[in-house]
Amino acid sequence: MQTKDLVIIGGGPAGMAAAVSAYGKGIRDLLIIERDESLGGILQQCIHNGFGLHMFKEELTGPEYAWRYEKMILDLGIPFKLNSMVVDISKDKVITYVNEEEGEVKIKAKAIILAMGCRERSRGALNIPGTRPAGIYTAGTAQKFINMMGLMVGRQVVILGSGDIGLIMARRMTLEGASVKAVCEIMPYSSGLARNIVQCLDDFNIPLKLGHTVTKIHGKDRLEGVTISKVDENRRPIPGTEEYTECDTLLLSVGLIPENELTKGMGIELDGSTRGAVVDQNRETSLEGVFSCGNVLHVHDLVDYVSEEAYIAGEAAARYIKGERVKNNNISVTASDNVSYVVPQRITSDKEKVKIYFRTKNELDNVQIIVSDCENVVYKAKRRKTKPGEMEYVTMAEDVLNNIKGNEISLKVIGE
Ligand SMILES: Cc1cc2nc3c(=O)[nH]c(=O)nc-3n(C[C@H](O)[C@H](O)[C@H](O)COP(=O)(O)OP(=O)(O)OC[C@H]3O[C@@H](n4cnc5c(N)ncnc54)[C@H](O)[C@@H]3O)c2cc1C
Repeated sequence: MQTKDLVIIGGGPAGMAAAVSAYGKGIRDLLIIERDESLGGILQQCIHNGFGLHMFKEELTGPEYAWRYEKMILDLGIPFKLNSMVVDISKDKVITYVNEEEGEVKIKAKAIILAMGCRERSRGALNIPGTRPAGIYTAGTAQKFINMMGLMVGRQVVILGSGDIGLIMARRMTLEGASVKAVCEIMPYSSGLARNIVQCLDDFNIPLKLGHTVTKIHGKDRLEGVTISKVDENRRPIPGTEEYTECDTLLLSVGLIPENELTKGMGIELDGSTRGAVVDQNRETSLEGVFSCGNVLHVHDLVDYVSEEAYIAGEAAARYIKGERVKNNNISVTASDNVSYVVPQRITSDKEKVKIYFRTKNELDNVQIIVSDCENVVYKAKRRKTKPGEMEYVTMAEDVLNNIKGNEISLKVIGE
């Protein structure tokens, strides 16, 4: 069986940045395994701009952002295998992948970084009544058809879900000559970035119907229309509010699911809220020497934060391989009032400052962020506004970590 110091599963932005980071810390015996025919992950189909503002202080398209990392991989000579799908990873870090040339191959790794990204929630998960005509796509599938294959998916469009991909596709379809009738969002707020609502909907006069959902699909062979209904505060359709909208295409942008089948197979502890692994500040999972970063860990709003997180995982994996990792603590971090999740969920060292990422459950103004241990408030911060669609973070300095009483801190948010 082959052996490697470090194997990285997934060659998207997370996998590539993690590899560059581990290489920078001296790891040379490493390999990226990617199932697609090229590196870059989902960014290859995101041809709009807006990437890299934090990381490169420039506005790049998705492929440009991905290329920055791909070029680093090529320049450094970091090995990667394309068209190779990882099908299993055992608890003792034996990775099994398959490809056309080699068949089934097993590699034993000292450390593994999981960077498999996420997939879109499909119609099956929504249970919308009606027929099963052609013309219903996830927004990401439509994005791939249009941006990578040059195929137009429809002319009269309704979009269900106001996540960023749905908003971006509303603009993309309009630019390609389609008429986008509405973006329907079941929640009373959009789950997309504020800048995308302005640039993708407002600038093109596309209506955003908050508190609305699609309740029926019409059409036999091809979609002919959808019924849109208002929903009540429990997200149940309100009888009598149904409106028929003619359309030939329905795009679904109703959430992303981290691809954690391999993670589950290894028996790694998962977080019910993020649907990713439970990790410490180094992005190390409950299985020693196995790290996780990017959208497979939690769905990020910006790829810049994915890269930042992958650097942390890459450096930590390098320290683990070299036997330099410090674990002198075990504080669990929990999400409390108005907070849907926190990452990391554990802090295992007080030697370095730690950024805790979180999302709020609702849109809030005049926000106070409060971190408490079993006795006191240990950290406070303020924000003018928070939105569930936008990731937030607080940075806990070493002196704060050193003074924590007990072995748990909770993060809550108070706002109006
Ligand atoms: C449709 C879509 C549109 C988006 N648009 C934007 C946007 O406009 N702006 C923005 O900032 N962010 C956007 N994002 C989010 C952004 O693309 C992600 O933050 C970023 O791509 C996540 O990087 P990643 O490496 O974690 O995952 P990915 O980019 O998904 O990469 C994961 C990689 O792992 C590979 N992989 C998975 N499983 C295996 C396996 N078993 N074996 C081998 N390889 C495997 C996949 O093929 C893929 O290449 C979008 C995401 C999606 C899904």
